[in-house]
Amino acid sequence: MTYLCYVDESGTPDVPGTSSHFVLAGLAIPIERWQEADRAITAILQKYDLEDGEVHTAWLLRGYPEQGKIAGFEAMSRLERRAAVHRYRASELLRLRKMKSPKPARQAKKTYAHTEEYTHLTRDERRAVVVEIAQCISGWDFAVLFFEAIDKLHFDPIKTGRSIGEQAFEQLVSRFEQFLARNNELPVHGLLVHDNNHTIAKRHTQMMREFHKQGTLWARIDRINETPMFVDSKLTRMVQMADLCSYAIRRYVENGETELIKPLLARTDTVNDRKSATPTLVAVGGRHFAKMNCECEICIAHTPWRKQAK
Ligand SMILES: [Zn+2]
Repeated sequence: MTYLCYVDESGTPDVPGTSSHFVLAGLAIPIERWQEADRAITAILQKYDLEDGEVHTAWLLRGYPEQGKIAGFEAMSRLERRAAVHRYRASELLRLRKMKSPKPARQAKKTYAHTEEYTHLTRDERRAVVVEIAQCISGWDFAVLFFEAIDKLHFDPIKTGRSIGEQAFEQLVSRFEQFLARNNELPVHGLLVHDNNHTIAKRHTQMMREFHKQGTLWARIDRINETPMFVDSKLTRMVQMADLCSYAIRRYVENGETELIKPLLARTDTVNDRKSATPTLVAVGGRHFAKMNCECEICIAHTPWRKQAK
């Protein structure tokens, strides 16, 4: 049996960067169930005329200001909406190009390119497709979620001897390995499939080689094979699903948004705590690296004895 663990990040690992948190998430699927999973996502995307496109959660969920400026936008057909946005954007680009600074036009062009595939949907529909996908993943009893969400201000690189990005990767690899090794009856193996990012591809490959030689701080690496396979997230849909997971986790730890994370947390790798006198489930697969007394759902699920001690 082999699990493919699709990995993607949300937020920047730089301090301070543009986000308070950095999240690395891995969604693991047994290779035998991949077709079923892929078909389920395709079926959702078809309803929204998105089956040929990329699912980029952050761009899907943004507000597109022009949609509010086009009269009767919501009542239009999808084809009409696409055409109306296209016209609006073309005239807006012409207007911006007349400005002294080239920056606004450049910025608008970039935003338009990222959102072009989604202009036929209203904001409610774009939200609905993301929620539907999160609920679909929630129902996959064969899938397992791993993640590390780091509060960057709480992180001390000197104490850990690692950068924020490295710490997140080491934690994710350790948790995936421990999950694979827990099943002793069947030989269970794993492979990491990672969004390709030039700066991290080299570093994560190096780190994985070190892990194969001497383990991580927490685990010997016997079950994860190879160095990560780097793929283009624009083309690989399951990496887009990992992107959705990491985005949902970051929006929860940064803004307290629960709609997307609630269904997804159900997939976190969870074990029975053997040390506990009463049956206690511990979500070992995901952690919020934050202040000691954080009482978010991730922290409570990861260390449930804290709540019981109260
Ligand atoms: Zn927390």
